[in-house]
Amino acid sequence: MPVGQDGHGTVGQDGHGTVWVGVDVGGTNVRAGVVGEEGHLRSWVSYRHGMSPGQFHVVSEAAGQALEMAHVAWADVAAVGVGIAGLVDSKAGFVIDAGNLGWHDLALGPELSTRLGVPVVIENDVCASAVAELAALPGGPVSPWLYLSVGTGVGACVVLDTADGHPLCLNVGHLPVPGGSRLCPCGKYGCLETVASGTAFTRAARARIAADPDHVLHARAATITGQDVVDSALRGDAISLEALAGAGEACGGAVANLVNMFIPAGVGLSGGMMGPGSPYLAALLEAARRDITEWMQARFEFQCARVGEKGGVTGVVELAKRRLAEPAGPRPGPSPGSPPRP
Ligand SMILES: [Zn+2]
Repeated sequence: MPVGQDGHGTVGQDGHGTVWVGVDVGGTNVRAGVVGEEGHLRSWVSYRHGMSPGQFHVVSEAAGQALEMAHVAWADVAAVGVGIAGLVDSKAGFVIDAGNLGWHDLALGPELSTRLGVPVVIENDVCASAVAELAALPGGPVSPWLYLSVGTGVGACVVLDTADGHPLCLNVGHLPVPGGSRLCPCGKYGCLETVASGTAFTRAARARIAADPDHVLHARAATITGQDVVDSALRGDAISLEALAGAGEACGGAVANLVNMFIPAGVGLSGGMMGPGSPYLAALLEAARRDITEWMQARFEFQCARVGEKGGVTGVVELAKRRLAEPAGPRPGPSPGSPPRP
């Protein structure tokens, strides 16, 4: 693969190729793949990105690896779609706020497009995976459709019958939770993410395990991960079960508010702790059912995600296609005058 001016991709191509590249930048991992004309993934890469502010070249690196694995040249790329865990202005290619990545007010789309020489479309990662999950619903897509994803943070969107085919991103992670008092990275106190996210239940379990010298994980309490908490809960550990249930219950209250607000035909639930038998999911469903208006109860159903992590990549490619097919308005594309970033 030829190397461009920043060492991470080529420049000077016209973006008239036939394959698409999807990159999904989550709070912890980056995933990427090449999507062929037929819409199928032709390659797949996934790894922890170890992100720090300013290191957005991780996007072009992941895209380059996916192309290399698929034996595709940059000249054959039509465009790159990038899903970001945060608030974005997709039409402008702008990252407004991605707190878990340390990115704020970043013209990511135009800068990457200049570096790579192809159009780059920036989307919210939850909206991207929602598009893939909705397309995979057994009974076919429904509308309105509410979709919630819990991982490092909490994200949600609602899919409506809109002309541009783009889900409406909901800033649900920063909804105030009754009784919440912890300071959130956003600067407010008691946001949903401070009690219902993977970060939150991991922190809650760590504190209690650190205070219990008899606990089997006590010696490494400070470094246990969210997966450790989930695994311990499956083995019946009371602290882990309570941490997951507490977070799930808080999330369920927020889901009930969203259901009462948007009156969806279905609610998709995504994340590592949303599988069958999960105490997080059980507490979420119980709390949500308790707070959803009675007449709404029989008018929708909860649906666990089916596509999984690859949906973030195929979904962002689908959204990028829709964005670039729009007839008018601001278009994400190369901005030749932009200086390269370090
Ligand atoms: Zn917040």
